[in-house]
Amino acid sequence: MEKTKKKMSFGEMLRLNHRGLKLFYDRYPQMVVSRLFFVIWNALTPYVGIFLSALIVDELAGNRNAERLKFLVFVTLGSAAVIALGTALLNKWKEAQNAGLWLKVENIISGKMLDMDYVSLDDTHTSELLSTIRQNMRGGGWGLYYVILFYEGLCSSALTILGGLALTVSLFMSKVPEGSGILVILNHPLLVIAVILLMLAVTFLSPVLSNKGGAYYAKYADSHNLGNRLFSFFGFLGYHTEIATDVRMYRQDNICDRYNRNKEDTFGSNGLFAHLAWGPMGLYSAAGAAVSVLFTGIVYGFVCLKALAGAFGLGAVTQYVAAMSKVSGGMSNFVYYLGRMRNNTPFLELTYEFLDIPNTMYQGSLTVEKRRDRNYQVEFRNVSFKYPGSENYALKGINMKFEIGKRLAVVGMNGSGKTTFIKLLCRLYDPTEGEILLNGIDIRKYNYREYMDIFSVVFQDFKLFSLKLGQNVASKVAFDKNRVLDCLEKAGFSDKLAEMPEGTETYLYKDYEDKGVDVSGGEAQKIAIARALYKDAPFIILDEPTAALDPMAEAEIYSKFDEIAGDKTAIYISHRLSSCKFCDEIAVFHEGAVIQQGTHAKLVADEEGKYYELWNAQAQYYTETA
Ligand code: ADP
Repeated sequence: MEKTKKKMSFGEMLRLNHRGLKLFYDRYPQMVVSRLFFVIWNALTPYVGIFLSALIVDELAGNRNAERLKFLVFVTLGSAAVIALGTALLNKWKEAQNAGLWLKVENIISGKMLDMDYVSLDDTHTSELLSTIRQNMRGGGWGLYYVILFYEGLCSSALTILGGLALTVSLFMSKVPEGSGILVILNHPLLVIAVILLMLAVTFLSPVLSNKGGAYYAKYADSHNLGNRLFSFFGFLGYHTEIATDVRMYRQDNICDRYNRNKEDTFGSNGLFAHLAWGPMGLYSAAGAAVSVLFTGIVYGFVCLKALAGAFGLGAVTQYVAAMSKVSGGMSNFVYYLGRMRNNTPFLELTYEFLDIPNTMYQGSLTVEKRRDRNYQVEFRNVSFKYPGSENYALKGINMKFEIGKRLAVVGMNGSGKTTFIKLLCRLYDPTEGEILLNGIDIRKYNYREYMDIFSVVFQDFKLFSLKLGQNVASKVAFDKNRVLDCLEKAGFSDKLAEMPEGTETYLYKDYEDKGVDVSGGEAQKIAIARALYKDAPFIILDEPTAALDPMAEAEIYSKFDEIAGDKTAIYISHRLSSCKFCDEIAVFHEGAVIQQGTHAKLVADEEGKYYELWNAQAQYYTETA
């Protein structure tokens, strides 16, 4: 699945990495700055020791002045103590600011998900991108996470090079005394240049070779991702408690074994990456390591020959050898990190493609008037809708007006468009054709947040958090206890509440609290209804509210529905017609269109109509099962 891509320019590579760094800096400036200080400190302070040791060695090999030696030792020890203290303090600062770097990356990605138009969230391309980005991250850190680490490496190596060069300039400048025989050749500018070039060549060759090895990860990113995705599911099968029953019932671990023990799999012992490791990837890495040894040989040779010829003393030898090996390390690291940054670019491009998904939904600025009389008139005018990427209309030519304070039931078989209708009403999607009006004005023109404030919806797939019951109902950390209790009572949760030891302070579920209380699907639904009531919006919408309820609870909900809805305009969606009888108006959806509308009595009297057909089919079902 290898993709051929055109080679990226150096500038483009830097631009991509720089954008990543800026993303972190804008959100977490202290994290970036503390790392920078730490890097500067760590790269430059070793040279203090190297410089001072050289002075001590020189003194020992030369004058041996006890006073000066004492002074030098004192300064060396003192500086070492200050450096250690500084390192510890900076490290503390850096650690505190960088805690949970993973989480920070996840926060950037998840923040985008929260800000995204719902319609993009629902797009399969978005979920594919997200899944690939997260797999890349887990497969080592490819993408944003590495940006920080590679910049840190690059900065550190650049500073190490500069510091080391400052201490080695004199190595190349100092002259061997005339009369040193053949060794005078060491003064020849061409020889000096040749040695410098040789050192550079060897220094650069080593990381180039290891990066060539590393580049295979980027080259085979698709296989790498697929391998990771398969492994992160099948390799951790036992962790998925939600499938534990099926796994046991059908011994599903046997069919998954193919992925776990398959030697040919991406990361298997006979798979793609094993072959690469035995072949080019391994060879490049080994060659890279071998070449770096050459550098040390050249430095030692050059420094020792110059010292032998009398160009400088013993102290300088230790200083040059130590500083040059640091420069060499710095240079290899510099090239290595540049290479790693390049290898990371395909992963960054994917991340930015995701972060750049535009919010295309029109955002109006009109304020939604706050009305005590809840006089909000909503009208669907010729509304049709196709899901993005779908050829078929999920809704076709819907015309409907909600009467304020009335109860409207939306009924129809599965897939007839009931939920889509509600999603359009809440502007999770915009109509493909036609318009929805609030008090005569297209809903697109209103401030979206304010528009959402007039609806309380209990969707079928609602979610509660493993937080306190009261917090769940109020959707706030600090909640109005009496109001929560009132809403829970209206939603029919009082009996269960009486069993809860800490009342509204009780934690739901046991994820974060041992004393948390598990609730059944039906009980959870009541809490979700209470949450909708707490919001106290002018419209209350219940989407298949009885789906998770047992018949008793279901009967309880509709008997109380009128009380629950109060003075709100209520929309009740269900495919169980018996639960809609009490509504003022019933709209029958069929294949995306409203084919009948009226009261139960009127609709059931029309023996040719869909409602009659559905009613009888369900009535028969209920009598039979009863
Ligand atoms: P209901 O709520 O009546 O069961 P829906 O509104 O969920 O029906 O679905 C109406 C139609 O739209 C169905 O044909 C369904 O397959 C299709 N549909 C629902 N959600 C999506 C989606 N996210 N993408 C594409 N098609 C969808």
